[in-house]
Amino acid sequence: MTSQRTRDRLINRLQQQGIDNEQVLDVMRRVPRHIFVDEALAHRAYEDTALPIGYGQTISQPYIVAQMTQLLLQEDGTPYSVLEIGTGCGYQTAILASIFPQVYSVERIEALYQQARKRLAELEFFNVQLRHTDGTAGWPNLSYHFDRIIMTAACTEIPEALVAQLRPGGVMVLPFDDGRDQTMTKITRSQEGLVSETLERVAFVPLLPGLE
Ligand code: SAH
Repeated sequence: MTSQRTRDRLINRLQQQGIDNEQVLDVMRRVPRHIFVDEALAHRAYEDTALPIGYGQTISQPYIVAQMTQLLLQEDGTPYSVLEIGTGCGYQTAILASIFPQVYSVERIEALYQQARKRLAELEFFNVQLRHTDGTAGWPNLSYHFDRIIMTAACTEIPEALVAQLRPGGVMVLPFDDGRDQTMTKITRSQEGLVSETLERVAFVPLLPGLE
């Protein structure tokens, strides 16, 4: 159920859905998703579906992980650092860490943060820094600026602190909730200000304030 053949089938499916970035496909083929879910769900890890990870949260659907990562890589140049809001089980973090030299990720639920930390260390991702903190305030060290920011929980307002931590020319990808629908949104910090692009409909858990 976690064999290379099962994984390859998932990659084919991602390609059929329009994921064409070779680097993204390659990394998704290699990073073991079954390590990031409960053992009882490991046999479903290579289905293209979100799965529960406890605490009312879910591991994102592989297509969504691939699509968001692909969006982060669309612009010219080689982005160096990325900040993720919502570590969850750490799977998207692992995908990012396989591509970006520096990955920073924050999670508001302590138990998930601890678990992700353990898994990512076991898989020897040494280029990841995790924090148990509320991501609406951005990365705790305010002097940090990121080439890319990815949010894996839906927000109803774009947190100002995140915009402030996005480098000029930087790109932020997030699910935006306008009160009716959630849409994948790509925001570029250009010289003229923020340029927003609305993409497909999505379904994410909400961005919540405070810590648990
Ligand atoms: N990429 C993760 C997605 C998990 S779901 C994965 O595939 O596992 C979204 C996560 O965002 C949840 O773990 C939730 O606890 C976290 N989250 C929600 N609001 C947050 C906030 N303000 N700061 C940090 N994390 C938050």
